[in-house]
Amino acid sequence: MQFPNYQYSEAFAQKMDQEDPMRKFRNEFLFPRVNGKEAIYFCGNSLGLQPKSVKSYLEKELENWGNLAVDGHFHGEDAWYHIRKKSKPALSELFGAHEHEVVAMNNLSVNLHLLMVSFYRPTKSRNKIIIEAGAFPSDQYMLESQVKFHGLNPAEVIVELKPREGEHTLRTEDILAEIKKQGNTLALVNMAGLQYYTGQLFDMKAISQAAHSVGALAGFDLAHAAGNIPLKLHDWEVDFATWCSYKYLNSGPGNVSGIYVHEKYAESPDLPRFAGWWGHDEGQRFLMEKGFIPMHGADGWQLANSNVLAMAAHQASLDIFQEAGIENLRKKSFLLTGYLEFLIKKISGESGVLEIITPENQLERGCQLSLHIHRGGKAVFDEWYKHGVVGDWRNPNVIRLAPTPLYNSFEDVFRFAQILEQSIEKFA
Ligand SMILES: *Cc1c(COP(=O)(O)O)cnc(C)c1O
Repeated sequence: MQFPNYQYSEAFAQKMDQEDPMRKFRNEFLFPRVNGKEAIYFCGNSLGLQPKSVKSYLEKELENWGNLAVDGHFHGEDAWYHIRKKSKPALSELFGAHEHEVVAMNNLSVNLHLLMVSFYRPTKSRNKIIIEAGAFPSDQYMLESQVKFHGLNPAEVIVELKPREGEHTLRTEDILAEIKKQGNTLALVNMAGLQYYTGQLFDMKAISQAAHSVGALAGFDLAHAAGNIPLKLHDWEVDFATWCSYKYLNSGPGNVSGIYVHEKYAESPDLPRFAGWWGHDEGQRFLMEKGFIPMHGADGWQLANSNVLAMAAHQASLDIFQEAGIENLRKKSFLLTGYLEFLIKKISGESGVLEIITPENQLERGCQLSLHIHRGGKAVFDEWYKHGVVGDWRNPNVIRLAPTPLYNSFEDVFRFAQILEQSIEKFA
């Protein structure tokens, strides 16, 4: 996609906003205030904003609970017993999967463990796992403990991919070469889809193909990809994936995760798994009998009945995504993040204060830009916050800024640029 002829001017930003077909969605979210002013919120990578509609979705379930109590499980169209089904059309679109390949359940770290039980089945000769170096801590602890659970040594089994000397992100060719090199010792590639720290989007299709070509499986943690980029998990032949819904999916702090399992595992009663009654054949669930019969597809990995209030908040947000369309959001995202990139380069350029470490190629990133700050340090970041910019800081010197296409505007980016310019003059 071509970038427009970007300009550092308010008139230009306003014109971009006027021409933005997604602009109406901004008004569907609540913005926090910082020092009495509406924030410039670039932190949707950490916690998405609250859709205004969440309240009424929650109130409806509170009413149902009040009016129906236990009968709410089976009463009418919105019966809680089937509540997971409501989110499936939206999840199926967002993740590029059949409805039976996705289900909302649990939290992300929990789901990673459950999926590892089924898809990391090391043998004496095939037991290696490839992951990117510097993965999110929960993923690292999960892998380490899974490997130990199998009686193996994490230092021998976990292969970490590091960028080349002097580079910040991984090259696809190097990822594929490592997969090939590990060959028939490789059990699993288990990486982020979009790296939380660098903002790099990995080529999940190529990685899955390479893993399969050596007889291994490929699974992805999509915490930072979900609701950020269009995904085609089924067509890419990804074996499994999981995500959270409180980052770009705007479903509320700690809200429900979800999983994807490729349909080739839909009928695999012999695949090891940790089971619970909600994964058991729905038609026979209340016979309360012995003998676990997994439900078809991803549903067969559920353990427990759904958290209805959490699912209601999740649904409020998913309905907005359904209306907006992830492909439309991606188009705006190219332009919006492109504008941020242009302004950072223009303003910080010669001073060398900020260095963007996220890939320059828009097909290798989502909406987030990660920056190294080389002078001024956290004082610069704190100055931004004082002026209402909510981003996030990671020691020793990384700033992440995520203009999200659903609720951020070109004017947000322009106003940030003005604050950036002043802060560089003052502190760096
Ligand atoms: C946010 C995030 C998590 C958080 O896990 P929870 O179980 O939801 O607390 C895990 N992994 C990655 C890559 C993340 O970005």
